[in-house]
Amino acid sequence: MTKNISDELGGFIRGNDNFLLLTHEKPDGDAIGSIFGLFKILRDNGKKADAFLPEKLPARYASFVPEDVIIGKMPELEKYSWIICLDTSTPDRIGVDKDQRAKILSLQLVNVDHHPDNKLFGKKNFISPESAATAEIIFKALKDSGSLRISQEAATCLLIGIIMDTGGFRFDNTKALTLKAASELLVAGADYPRVINAMFFSQPLNFVKMEAELVSKHMKTAFSGKYAWAYLSDELLTEHGIEKKDTETLIDLLRQIQGVEIAAVFYRKDDGFKISLRSKNKKYPVAKIARTLGGGGHELAAGAFIKAAEISEAEKILQDRVGEMLGEKDGNPL
Ligand code: 5GP
Ligand code: MN
Repeated sequence: MTKNISDELGGFIRGNDNFLLLTHEKPDGDAIGSIFGLFKILRDNGKKADAFLPEKLPARYASFVPEDVIIGKMPELEKYSWIICLDTSTPDRIGVDKDQRAKILSLQLVNVDHHPDNKLFGKKNFISPESAATAEIIFKALKDSGSLRISQEAATCLLIGIIMDTGGFRFDNTKALTLKAASELLVAGADYPRVINAMFFSQPLNFVKMEAELVSKHMKTAFSGKYAWAYLSDELLTEHGIEKKDTETLIDLLRQIQGVEIAAVFYRKDDGFKISLRSKNKKYPVAKIARTLGGGGHELAAGAFIKAAEISEAEKILQDRVGEMLGEKDGNPL
């Protein structure tokens, strides 16, 4: 992150008050860690602040929710001086009621994010694509600003953001500065073992069984095993008693396989399918594929929506594009 952005964000937070914090729909670890961490820092330092999430959180984050976070019922937007939107690249992904999104854009909106394709929709935009996580941006800016106290609880939340967006420091967005921020968060009292246990070593047994079934019965591969994908159907989720919101890390099951360069997971949504895309190789920037489908994201972690009646139709659309990217013509699904 440039010193400028960091200084300006730190100065903005110190010099203002009365904030509402928001993040993106279907919030992931960085969204949740960022909103909780910033909320705690603001409140701990005597600022007026609320944090709003539209729906129940994925189970792994349940024990980290700070007191007073608003879940479900949207607060009245006009009563805040500033609305800070975290980790959200486009206004249509802001996690609020759909009819409130246009209104938010007309208010004093501040955008803090690390997506390279951020649409700069705020009145102020603090965007740092070289940061691994939005939580990393927040921590650096507020720590450097000097005068704000960062509690152990806030540090733990920000650490969640960094850990989840780097896949536990495994993805190539893990830079020296990312590890430095994580190290400084530990110095500030972040509870590393607690975070690791909750994020990675607490999968309910029914979830692990569902994963086993997904890989053994529903995963397909093509292009000599360089592309692996699976359709996570509502039936499979229901059969195992799992909610869609708890499937954030599922795609890593496919990404981890030797030889797989690109992985995809499909979910049903409205009149089509939502896709999650991951790549292990800069040669295959899946964000490009996502963009051709109207979506976006990071080079190696992206997503989009494909309108289609049947899953086979959506699978074919994506497989053609993956094939083009891999330089292969015909896939041979196994
Ligand atoms: P995930 O697969 O975890 O849902 O998303 C991976 C990345 O792609 C995230 O950084 C997210 O912001 C981005 N992404 C996912 N879906 C969409 C989408 O529909 N539109 C855009 N612009 N980005 C998306
Ligand atoms: Mn993020």
